[in-house]
Amino acid sequence: MAKYVYFFGNGKAEGRKDMKSLLGGKGANLAEMTHIGVPVPPGFTITTEVCNLYFTSNGKLPSDVDIEMEQNLKKLEEVSSYKFASIDNPLLVSVRSGAKFSMPGMMDTILNLGLNDKTVLGLVKKTNNERFAWDCYRRFVQMFGNVVLDIDKNVFETILHGKKEKKNITSDTELNAQDLKGLVEEYKKKLKELGKTFPQDAMEQLKMARGAVFKSWDNERAVFYRKQYKIPHNIGTAVNVQMMVFGNMGETSATGVGFTRDPSTGQKEFFGEFLTNAQGEDVVAGIRTPRNISEMKALMPDVYNQLIEITQKLEKHYRDVQDFEFTVQENRLYMLQTRNGKRTGAAAIKIAVEMVHEGLITKEEAVLRVEPEQLDQLLHPRIDVKAKPKVIAKGLNASPGAAVGKVYFTAEDAVNAAKSGEKVLLVRNETCPDDIEGVARSQGVLTATGGATSHAVIVSRQMGKPCVAGCSAVRINEKQGTMAIGNIKIKKGDYVAIDGSTGEVMLGNVPTIKPDIKELAKSEYGELIQWADQIRKLEVRANADIPRDAIIARANGAEGIGLCRTEHMFFAPERLPLMQEMILAKDESSRKMSLQKLLPMQREDFIELFETMKGFPVTIRLLDPPLHEFLPKREEIITSLAELKCGKDVTPETIRNLKTQLRVDKIIKIPDTDIEGNIKQLEALLHRVEELHEFNPMLGLRGCRLGIVMPEITQMQAQAIFEAAAAVIKSGSSVHPEVMVPLVGHVQEFIHQKAIITKAAEEVMKEHQIKIEYLIGTMIEVPRAALTSDAIAKEAEFFSFGTNDLTQMTFGFSRDDSGKFLPYYIGQGILTSDPFVSLDQTGVGQLVKMGVSKGRSVRPTLKCGICGEHGGEGSSVEFCHRAGLDYVSCSPYRVPLARLAAAHGVLKEKKEQ
Ligand code: ADP
Ligand code: MG
Ligand code: MG
Repeated sequence: MAKYVYFFGNGKAEGRKDMKSLLGGKGANLAEMTHIGVPVPPGFTITTEVCNLYFTSNGKLPSDVDIEMEQNLKKLEEVSSYKFASIDNPLLVSVRSGAKFSMPGMMDTILNLGLNDKTVLGLVKKTNNERFAWDCYRRFVQMFGNVVLDIDKNVFETILHGKKEKKNITSDTELNAQDLKGLVEEYKKKLKELGKTFPQDAMEQLKMARGAVFKSWDNERAVFYRKQYKIPHNIGTAVNVQMMVFGNMGETSATGVGFTRDPSTGQKEFFGEFLTNAQGEDVVAGIRTPRNISEMKALMPDVYNQLIEITQKLEKHYRDVQDFEFTVQENRLYMLQTRNGKRTGAAAIKIAVEMVHEGLITKEEAVLRVEPEQLDQLLHPRIDVKAKPKVIAKGLNASPGAAVGKVYFTAEDAVNAAKSGEKVLLVRNETCPDDIEGVARSQGVLTATGGATSHAVIVSRQMGKPCVAGCSAVRINEKQGTMAIGNIKIKKGDYVAIDGSTGEVMLGNVPTIKPDIKELAKSEYGELIQWADQIRKLEVRANADIPRDAIIARANGAEGIGLCRTEHMFFAPERLPLMQEMILAKDESSRKMSLQKLLPMQREDFIELFETMKGFPVTIRLLDPPLHEFLPKREEIITSLAELKCGKDVTPETIRNLKTQLRVDKIIKIPDTDIEGNIKQLEALLHRVEELHEFNPMLGLRGCRLGIVMPEITQMQAQAIFEAAAAVIKSGSSVHPEVMVPLVGHVQEFIHQKAIITKAAEEVMKEHQIKIEYLIGTMIEVPRAALTSDAIAKEAEFFSFGTNDLTQMTFGFSRDDSGKFLPYYIGQGILTSDPFVSLDQTGVGQLVKMGVSKGRSVRPTLKCGICGEHGGEGSSVEFCHRAGLDYVSCSPYRVPLARLAAAHGVLKEKKEQ
């Protein structure tokens, strides 16, 4: 028989920390803490399997679930010596969500369950604390109304607010027993008006709450969070039913949240917040701005010391930073939750490296603890202090980094503005998990209330979003779309800047600067990335077209250039006209003349690139894009012609302007005064553009097809490459050019191009009496190339998988238009991620694996790499390792990420074995 419920209490637990799939993270850790002697209120966990049953059976659970739950409730009564639904001695419980992967604040929890009109009176009698009992009941009706009966939070907040306003008080703690009693009545009245009944039967309350918590697995913010972090949608949440302990029993009671180390910076400092006379929700929901944990030391020294001791023990036990929740009931400490703390990229690195030095974890573990994507956060901009921005307010430095953007006061507005391309700063009264999409789309977050441990801030940190919280000077008027800081008025859409490292708020579009990579290398980051280098097997190269990119690539540790796109060299203003001239040439001999003018420029480019890369391999791809990209668009020429032909007063100036706009002023050389002549030339240009027009340019005259139709282009480029190599060798450096033919689908295409390249190489070597070490290879980006890679490998010395085009052609998805449908695919779960971002391992990946194995079957030394965008994406790099590639090549900025991901590939493979 299946077991649906697991008990914990009195130092014994049926679960353990490694049972997260079944019990959820919260349940597994409550069991573990109980087991290792940490004071945890007793309770039981209903498994994630029950959640899945709940969904598949439309809410009808097998009767065994209820039977087991009632048995466990009995046990809980024995252990706690309270009785569920008893009037004199009521047992109150919390009903808490908790899935395998922690999703802070994304699902629901209900506190103080078991209270009704009668038990509340019992609680008053038993505790002799009227205010406390009615505070619990007030909270319970509110939470039950919201979570189970589905009534908007604001309905209750408005009533609560009204009460406080009437009494002219600001804090909930100032409400007395009579006020709270009145609130319960008002809440219940409101529920009735809305057609809902608040159940008085405790068992009914429990079953309803259990269902509501299961259902919260599928609420909007939870679904968004899972998409964001690629958590499967079908694993469900567990439900924890736990005896309540009370932080709201007066000034010797408290509740709080903390981290064993600072989750923003990684400093080894106890970090946390608390509130006296409150319940957990007040801190984690961000409604009240809590006090710094350090104040607890003076207020309740014994409890404080015990908290430090327990949390240190937990950190050692779990061998990672712990994010914990606790409650103090009349000077007695209870732990309510512990989990590995979410942290910023910078903190992740510092903590991992320091834990190695402390002997807590191994280097391999440290490397695995930092997600490659987190490295991106290190390169986040900082406020440029030289600009001397004016600081207008200060809040809590909740998540580091600078964010500058136009302010919006609702998540919805922020999302819409971001979608239309604006840089957005989300400003809210409080941070609430419902805003998660708004946070994801913003540069950063500023809040008026709430502390640094609220759920929403934890999530901002995890996303690497700068955040200033609890900035009490901020007054927001959401309706009017304005905010005020002192007497400064700020409207929706105005620029504001925040510095999440200092908590400062500034006015205006404040300039930012990028951090210095060299400085970073001296920090823990440098140490960690070196460990990754010792572990990884993949070589990491960069895609760089110009020396400036190559310099950044080298500084980031690239071991070569995996893709130099030569066409980018032709778009420069002084070169474009020559390129256009070449394209417009009427015959081969005039085309050759234009190419001769381009040759020395190409040679110079390559010399610089080779010198920058100091002996590391440089892969140069021959001209790839369709030629029309170098010419003005057909429609633009037509409009210009119409203007010239029908315009009223066409002056030489009009002509000049049009020609510059079209970027053809250097190739149409006749004087601007000759209107007719210019029209004729433009018509000729239009004619050529129309000749070149293609219905599917991505499937048209491009890649090696260009070099086959116009072999003189390949010839010129090859000559430039080898002459540059010769020059650099003569100056005493070593050079390893790798000439790469794009878009090959048939081996004969490659053979054709290879002959031209080989001839150029031999001629240059002969002329300069020099030996150049070079390779000729091809891109594998057309499915046919992967399918026939054995034939191609007989001829090619290396393969570079161009996974952008390969993805485009394997799916038949246009890279440039996929934005029109991919979001729907991902929204509806047809695809879990954008295949242009993370390599589609089952489909496109199969072609990659086939290419490697077939290729190496005929040429065992075949060098294989990848040069698509995927070369800089974590999961794709791991795949490249498993597929046996020799290297990945990515954007110069993503090189560190790829180095780390390559190490992850090795370590995860080891784990699996
Ligand atoms: P979340 O997953 O949203 O953090 P939790 O289940 O952890 O939800 O509960 C929210 C808050 O309620 C936490 O601060 C927690 O400490 C508090 N809480 C939960 N159960 C109890 C309990 N049995 N006694 C006292 N406080 C509780
Ligand atoms: Mg919690
Ligand atoms: Mg391509």
